[in-house]
Amino acid sequence: VKQYSTDVLIVGAGPVGLSAVFSLGQIGLRSIVVDALDAIGGQCTALYPEKPIYDIPARMQIAGAALIEELAQQAAPYNPVYLLSRRAIDLTEQNGSFSVAMSDGSVVTCGCIVIAAGVGAFGPNRPPLANIEQFEGRSVHYFVRSAEQFRNKRIVIAGGGDSAADWAVILAEVATSVTLVHRRRAFRAAEATQKKLEELELAGKLIIAAPQSMQSLESENGLLSAVVVKSDDGAQTRISCDALLCFFGLAKDLSALMKWGIGASRNGIPVDYATMQTSRRGIFAIGDVVSYAGKLKLILTGFSEGAVAAHAARAHLFPDRQFHFEYSTTRGRPGIEKVA
Ligand SMILES: Cc1cc2nc3c(=O)[nH]c(=O)nc-3n(C[C@H](O)[C@H](O)[C@H](O)COP(=O)(O)OP(=O)(O)OC[C@H]3O[C@@H](n4cnc5c(N)ncnc54)[C@H](O)[C@@H]3O)c2cc1C
Repeated sequence: VKQYSTDVLIVGAGPVGLSAVFSLGQIGLRSIVVDALDAIGGQCTALYPEKPIYDIPARMQIAGAALIEELAQQAAPYNPVYLLSRRAIDLTEQNGSFSVAMSDGSVVTCGCIVIAAGVGAFGPNRPPLANIEQFEGRSVHYFVRSAEQFRNKRIVIAGGGDSAADWAVILAEVATSVTLVHRRRAFRAAEATQKKLEELELAGKLIIAAPQSMQSLESENGLLSAVVVKSDDGAQTRISCDALLCFFGLAKDLSALMKWGIGASRNGIPVDYATMQTSRRGIFAIGDVVSYAGKLKLILTGFSEGAVAAHAARAHLFPDRQFHFEYSTTRGRPGIEKVA
């Protein structure tokens, strides 16, 4: 079992969790950040990396992915450890310190927890196919990082939204073959993309298998070899392939946190907004996941809540010490000499 120890465990690497790394670092606290996704950035990365955000103060506009990159850069001098592709699941408390067990078996021991879980742990919606887990990460994928990994491969893409349509268009140029499987002939994609799909189909660069639904997966020597699909009249077709990409949207899961004894429900986590502490001492919550009267679900609000939680976390960790409030202009940051 991999064991980690830190001052503060941050659950969620969305924009609010990342800015909390900085706020905690400024007052001398180390943090570890866990996220279910394999990349940092929460909603900004998973849902709108290219969209411009207009209401980050002092930025006329900044795309979701660019905001995350800058937040990570700002946090970097405090050496946060990112534990990605795993969920925070079980919480235990002993002698005033917390242990949180992750879905991959690793355990983080910490003095405080800051929950920045947004709308819940993100994960792919899996199609209900037997044994799909055994191919995940090797020949079944839910996210695509680069088109190159599919060069000269035979690909099946399943789904009817923007992601499925966009990747079908992109991969048709690099893969040996692309078959797009969807329950309906119509796609919920931008008009230009739909047109491109039709052009690629006419040019023989793409096969649209619709209306069809996936029935089962076949393998050879442990590797995916074919996807079996069925049409409305019950006829089955076997599509030979090297990889299956499934785009059925993102699932959000807050259920693990609902067992932490902090009053978490589908409506979020109630907090005292003077400290952002939950009903359990030493456990704070910030960002979209919190609920209090007047809560605004904005990135800006989450940044502020992170600063409040950081100061309250320090007071919790060092109850006998007196702290003097310092501006960042006085404190500076690692790697930069402070201005006298
Ligand atoms: C299309 C769109 C446009 C938007 N535009 C704006 C805008 O213009 N301005 C603005 O201010 N806001 C905007 N928002 C809202 C903004 O994105 C959210 O307020 C912000 O992402 C909240 O940040 P967060 O860090 O609290 O949570 P999130 O970004 O939701 O991140 C939470 C992270 O926690 C992880 N997580 C949760 N539970 C666990 C667990 N148990 N274990 C491990 N990981 C876990 C999740 O996987 C996720 O990555 C927009 C949202 C959308 C969808």
